[in-house]
Amino acid sequence: MDRIYADCAATTQISESALQVMTECMRVHYGNPSSTHQDGRDAARVLEEARRKIAACIGAEPEEVYFTSGGTEADNQAILTAARYGEQVGKRHMIFSAVEHHAVLNCIPALEKAGFEITLLGVDETGRVSIEELKAACRKDTILVAVMYVNNEVGTVEPATEIGRLCRERGILYHIDGVAAAGHIPVDVKELDAGMFSLSAHKFHGPRGIGVLYVGKDVPVANLMFGGGQERTKRPGTQNVPGAAAMAKALCDSVATLEEQTPKLEQLRERLLCGLKDVDGMWMNGNSGSRVPGIINLGFEGVSGESLMLLLDLNGISVSTGAACNTESVEPSHVLTAMGLSPERARSCIRISLSTYNTEAEVDAICRAVMGAVERARD
Ligand SMILES: *Cc1c(COP(=O)(O)O)cnc(C)c1O
Repeated sequence: MDRIYADCAATTQISESALQVMTECMRVHYGNPSSTHQDGRDAARVLEEARRKIAACIGAEPEEVYFTSGGTEADNQAILTAARYGEQVGKRHMIFSAVEHHAVLNCIPALEKAGFEITLLGVDETGRVSIEELKAACRKDTILVAVMYVNNEVGTVEPATEIGRLCRERGILYHIDGVAAAGHIPVDVKELDAGMFSLSAHKFHGPRGIGVLYVGKDVPVANLMFGGGQERTKRPGTQNVPGAAAMAKALCDSVATLEEQTPKLEQLRERLLCGLKDVDGMWMNGNSGSRVPGIINLGFEGVSGESLMLLLDLNGISVSTGAACNTESVEPSHVLTAMGLSPERARSCIRISLSTYNTEAEVDAICRAVMGAVERARD
């Protein structure tokens, strides 16, 4: 039997249309976009077309879109940008939510070494930050607030619009890690009052190794690397033109079909939860209202999530125990513990993340396999 892929928050299968754009670009538009001859100009045209399309999908201007190697780099560059800006204006305090991706949280040691103070903002039991707590955490020397849009482990949508408004009123930069949001819910960076916003193509059926950092015009971008004049000198290195073109295709396709995708995913989610409703000692992590439909995080009393994941894998089903980046660590998920789960309960969870490539038959097979695996793991 074919394997069932249900780990779409870790990465997604590239779409046929994005793959076609990518191979066509590699075959035909292979010039260096910085070269001034015709082949270079041709590649530059493809690159700028991709930039325009991506900008249009998120409500940005093309000049505010910087191509990066992915979400991690975009998050790092956003935080470094805030740090440099903070040093200039004498503000050395930042606020991160406790449920940020490691691409944000693991910047903290370096920031502290450079003299920054970081406040970690707690979340409620559904994974949402509180606006009141954020207000209380803001200081005169706060340069940055970083709260993601959609949590990649539990699917909770954060109150980004309110956070954006609060930051604007206080003159604080707001960075949104939008990697799990773009292509899954509507995004308008201006409506969100985002100073910075990161995206990664492989989370919405684009290729790996290409992402975008949006930076508003009024924010001075800091360099992670130094080199040529690419990306307005802010992200030097010959651009990944096929990646950019495929990213634009995948994002435009996702955004254009959101209205069909969302109800389809809601149905798959309902089917999954309905199929599992008789499992004893099962609970769901996340927010029942403010969430994306594709990410379903479930806990099973008395079962190790790790064993469950391995048993499902043996049954030909790919799910995860949390963020893919953490598989080597035995630490329980920082997201689930921030939501108040005991380490033991946090270790009893798996994440099933679906895309519209999944079918009802697959969801039924997942339900049967989960029930069987929970039973076996409890024996
Ligand atoms: C996947 C992910 C990242 C990292 O993106 P990469 O392109 O894999 O580096 C960052 N933040 C969130 C929320 C993610 O889901």
